[in-house]
Amino acid sequence: MADTLSGPALGELLAELQSYGVRVEDTIQARRGGAGPSDAGMIRVEGVPVTFPFTADYVADSPYVLQPEGDEGSWGVYREGRRLAGAEVPPRPRFYDMTTADGIPYWKIALLHLDSLASTVIQTCLYWGKDDQCRFCGIELSLEAGRTIPVKKPEHLAEVAVAAKELDGAVDVTLTSGTTGGADKGARYLGKCARAIKAASGLPVQAQFEPPDDLSVLEEIKEQGVDSVGMHLESFDPGVLAYVAPAKARTGVAGYFRAWQRAVEIFGRGQVSTYVILGMGEDLQMTIDGCKRAIDAGVYPFVVPLRPVPGSLMGDKVPPPAEYVESLYREVAPYLAVNGLASWEVHAGCARCGACSALAAYERHGEPPSGGRQLPILNVR
Ligand code: SF4
Repeated sequence: MADTLSGPALGELLAELQSYGVRVEDTIQARRGGAGPSDAGMIRVEGVPVTFPFTADYVADSPYVLQPEGDEGSWGVYREGRRLAGAEVPPRPRFYDMTTADGIPYWKIALLHLDSLASTVIQTCLYWGKDDQCRFCGIELSLEAGRTIPVKKPEHLAEVAVAAKELDGAVDVTLTSGTTGGADKGARYLGKCARAIKAASGLPVQAQFEPPDDLSVLEEIKEQGVDSVGMHLESFDPGVLAYVAPAKARTGVAGYFRAWQRAVEIFGRGQVSTYVILGMGEDLQMTIDGCKRAIDAGVYPFVVPLRPVPGSLMGDKVPPPAEYVESLYREVAPYLAVNGLASWEVHAGCARCGACSALAAYERHGEPPSGGRQLPILNVR
C-alpha cells in the first residue's frame, strides 16, 4: 500500500484527476449540468475535497480509476493497477429525500457539493442563447433537463439550508445566479436569499454575481448577511475574455478591479474571489501577473482547469494538461502565502470549499519539494 500522499504530491495527483478525469467503477454523487463546473464527480482524496470530470468522452482514455475497496465507503484511486491514494465517496445527502410544503424536491433547490450547499438562485441568464453567452457556461442546461427550477425562493433556500446543515453537515452556502437585466445584475436578490438563509441556519454565505453598475449594492448585500463574494473575471487575457465572455469583457479587467477593490473595503481581504479558468487559450504570463495583481488587491484567484460542460459552447473541448495548470499553482500558492491570503480563511464559497481546483493543496505546503513533479508526465492524448 502506497504511503499517504500529501502536499504538492497530492496536489499533482488532484491536478491530474481534474485534467484527465477519472473512470468510476461504481455509482457516486455527481453533478451533470448548470452554472459553474459540472460533469463533476465529488469525492475526498486523502481527506482533501476534489471534483473531477467523469462522464465526458475524453475520460474513457484516463489512466485513473476510482474503485471501491473492501470496507463500506472506502475507495482507492488507482493508475494502471497501482493504488495511489485512499478516497472517500460521500453518501447521498439525506435532505435530497425531502420536499417543500408545495412539493418541490429539495435537490431541485440546492445541491450539496461535499460540505458546501450550492444553489443557482436564478437559473436563467440575460446572455443565454445570445452572442453574449459565456462559452464555458451551462446554466440553463439543467433547467432544460428538468433537474432544477427557474427561481429559488428565499424561504425555500432557508428551509433547505437548515436541513442540509442538520442532516448532512453543510458548513456554508454558495449562491450564484444568472445575470438579470437590472443594474444590480441579480446581486440584490442574492442578498435577499442570504438574509433568509442566515436567519434560519446561521451558515456563512458566499454570493457570486457580475459586478453591479452601482457598487453601493455591495454594502446592501453585506448588510443582508453575505460574508464573501465572487465576481468572476474568468480570464486575465483580454483577447480570450472578449471571445469566451463578451459581456464580461465589456466590464473589462479594469472594471473588475474597481469592483473588487470596493468589495475588499466592505468584505475584507481574502473574502473576495474570482474564478480564473485555464485552458481557453490564455497567455500564461499575463495570467500569472493578473493573479498576482488580484492578490495584491486582496482578491483570492480561484484558479481552475476548464471543465467543459457537455452541451455548452465549449462542450467539445478537453481540460488543459495537468502540468500547465500546476505551473500556475506553483506561482500563485507561494504568492498567496506571502500576502497573507489563504483558502482556509475564506468564510464561504468556492474558494473555501476548494474542490474544483488543486490550488489549496499547494497552499497547504508552501514551496514544492526540490526536483518539482513527483508523478511522471503522462502522454495519454
Ligand atoms: S468549488 Fe466547491 S462549491 Fe464551488 S462549484 Fe466546486 S464543488 Fe461546488
